[in-house]
Amino acid sequence: MHLVCLDLEGVLVPEIWIAFANRTGIAAFARTTRDEPDYDRLMRYRLALLREHGLGLADIQAVIGAMAPLDGAKDFLDDLRAHYQVVILSDTFYEFADPLMRQLGRPTLLCHRLEIDAEGFVAGYRLRQPDQKRRAVEAFKSLNYRVIAAGDSYNDTGMLLAADAGFLIHPPANVVAEFPQFPVNADLAELRRSIDAAALRLPPT
Ligand SMILES: [Mg+2]
Repeated sequence: MHLVCLDLEGVLVPEIWIAFANRTGIAAFARTTRDEPDYDRLMRYRLALLREHGLGLADIQAVIGAMAPLDGAKDFLDDLRAHYQVVILSDTFYEFADPLMRQLGRPTLLCHRLEIDAEGFVAGYRLRQPDQKRRAVEAFKSLNYRVIAAGDSYNDTGMLLAADAGFLIHPPANVVAEFPQFPVNADLAELRRSIDAAALRLPPT
């Protein structure tokens, strides 16, 4: 049986924090790991900003609920799920992803959790485990699944390396240069053809 692991942000839905910055008009939310490589510091900065602007979980979910998946993502995912077992591996949080997952038909999502306080503010966050994408792929392989994985960025390369076949989709140039072993796909249609070809190539389990 072939299992397909997909990244979420940048593949099926927009980059959530960047879209959030655009929707709220608060540009400071667009700060990313490129600007602040220390993820913990970045998250503390974001949580402080949310509080400063009086944005609780309900406000955040209302903003995210007005976003939509990327063009063609729902159809791509529906058809992929008709042919493969599909698991989405993301470094986002269930509470953020939920409004978008609803629009995607609620596929299986493995990601992290936010801590919400009694007033409905985001008090903190809990990462499931370090390097969870890679470790999830390793766990699926230990369950005797053939894993085909795809993502768009640096935080996906661990799972792509661990998978039986790994693909990039419209990645930034630095990721392509550093990981030339992963075939690059321009869009979801091309990615689907790559997944189908890999599934034919990999003996079933
Ligand atoms: Mg991504």
